[in-house]
Amino acid sequence: MNTEQIKDRYSMRDMLQRYGLPQPNKAGFLCCPFHKEKTASMKLYPKDFHCFGCGAHGDIFTFVMRMEGLTFQEAFAALGGGYATNFTARLSIYRAQKRREMQKKTEERLKQKKKLNDLLLAVYRRWLGRLEPLSDGWTDTYNALQYQEYLQELLNDPKKCYEVIK
Ligand SMILES: [Zn+2]
Repeated sequence: MNTEQIKDRYSMRDMLQRYGLPQPNKAGFLCCPFHKEKTASMKLYPKDFHCFGCGAHGDIFTFVMRMEGLTFQEAFAALGGGYATNFTARLSIYRAQKRREMQKKTEERLKQKKKLNDLLLAVYRRWLGRLEPLSDGWTDTYNALQYQEYLQELLNDPKKCYEVIK
């Protein structure tokens, strides 16, 4: 199937079904799956969608791309498009899934690292207040604190934070 054939074949309602999402209300609105909300602000058209909350907008391909974190080509294949065999379609979906899992793991590690950093900063600062200034213990704690402060700076820098957890 090509893009037009896929669009002819599937409606936006089919896409909701595909992801087990509830059908829109009588006015054609449903809760947007792309941002957290309690009142339905996503308007569903037969072939398109538009969210008045977060501005998400597109057709069935966009919807699948965003729901599954796929590229257009992967979404196209996932909907049975192109010359892709079942195998390559599955492979690209598998790869996209792996990518998402890796990203999740990285985020989780970053979170843990930040937690530990916060904890150590608090502990070292407390110790430093109790130890005799310039004693051995004080100097060691001071150095350890300096390192954690440096680490905190890196962890809060979106460009450098991933270096820390490598
Ligand atoms: Zn939205």
